[in-house]
Amino acid sequence: MAHYGLLIDYEYCTGCEVCQVTCKEEHDYPVGKFGIRVFDDGPWEIEEHRFNFNKIPVPTDLCDLCAERTSTGREPICVHHCLANVMSYGTVEELARKLDSKTKQVLWVPQYKPYEARGPFVHDPAKGARKAAHFEVEENASAERMTAQRGDQRVDEMLTDA
Ligand code: SF4
Ligand code: SF4
Repeated sequence: MAHYGLLIDYEYCTGCEVCQVTCKEEHDYPVGKFGIRVFDDGPWEIEEHRFNFNKIPVPTDLCDLCAERTSTGREPICVHHCLANVMSYGTVEELARKLDSKTKQVLWVPQYKPYEARGPFVHDPAKGARKAAHFEVEENASAERMTAQRGDQRVDEMLTDA
């Protein structure tokens, strides 16, 4: 049976953490649990105006390689949304060939551990309602912030439209 993995070109990873966020959203992982984390190597100064600074995304034991999506032929959600297009999904064999093409890449072959997903990971149908309430609070807060920071006509129009 072929193993599948993620190949990440960390030379061009910007550290935007979109992979981390989209994975969490897709799997409904609670606060503090992730399917992938973006770690820092550095920064430290090598010489004046030159720094060592790498961003390295690491799939956790909760990475199931997006089994639901990939079983229907779609790519993992992190790969789909990676803004720098530095993530690839495929068999270890094909990714290993790409790995040979340049340096500063890492090939991950995660092992999903279902017991890590027990307990608070059960799907929570009330989440949608909580999210809507949260966004409403956020929206009101942004409107207040906008009014406090800007008093121009465009803000007045937006607040009238809302
Ligand atoms: S492949 Fe899926 S489960 Fe694994 S890190 Fe990416 S989004 Fe998360
Ligand atoms: S989404 Fe892509 S560029 Fe952004 S942190 Fe993840 S791997 Fe790096």
